Amino acid sequence: MARQPLIAGNWKMNLNHLEAIALVQKVAFALPEKYFAKVEVAVLPPFTDIRSVQTLIDGDNLLLKYGAQDISEHDSGAYTGDVSGPMLAKLGCTYVVVGHSERREYHAETDEVVNKKVRATLKHGMTPILCVGEQLDVREAGNHVEHCTTQLINALKGLKAEQVRQVVVAYEPVWAIGTGKVATAADAQEVCGAVRGALADKYGQEIADEVRVLYGGSVKSSNIGELIGQADVDGALVGGASLNGDEFAKLSAMA
Ligand code: PEP
Repeated sequence: MARQPLIAGNWKMNLNHLEAIALVQKVAFALPEKYFAKVEVAVLPPFTDIRSVQTLIDGDNLLLKYGAQDISEHDSGAYTGDVSGPMLAKLGCTYVVVGHSERREYHAETDEVVNKKVRATLKHGMTPILCVGEQLDVREAGNHVEHCTTQLINALKGLKAEQVRQVVVAYEPVWAIGTGKVATAADAQEVCGAVRGALADKYGQEIADEVRVLYGGSVKSSNIGELIGQADVDGALVGGASLNGDEFAKLSAMA
């Protein structure tokens, strides 16, 4: 079964809601409608921008998808500052980034927390973009494949195969995020292929063949072509380059 490529722009903590509207307009109008039949393009703004992005996309029937960068593992309650699955689902989010290395590092998110957030996302009908990736020392020690597949299996613990089918995995080597150091296409394929292999071992080949595996880390229009040409790379999670509407549209058009 052919997997539809996905290009998702992780804006991180950038752009207010007015800037968000301007960027979505630029991207949407730069890409011809027929293009969206081939490739899915999503933006992942900060929470404060989601309502504005929703209004624009719904109001103008734009074909872009959108989502959030994090989710609470809880549905409601005394969790000051957190945002829940029901809130994000009500805003029409399709995707939620879970387990990004910046959340693992700055918010001490463990594999156990990531697992709870994956479950919360699925419970409310949204698709997790589950990030896995190794630090430089892990790669230099040659343990990157095991590190990433362990993060993957831990994050999916307790899920039924039917739920795993819906998950998007993003391989993001930490040393390549925001550094300008992109992994080679062969590096990306090695880990994305191993992710699919681990999914096949645990959930069966049919499920593994359906799961989209993205690469993330300093992706731009100049390197997306080679990355997405790899057998197990089904798209990209894009940080810095997603903040420039022309560049994000250009790299999306090359997927
Ligand atoms: C990211 O943080 O998800 C990311 C891929 O960032 P960048 O493209 O800036 O490396």
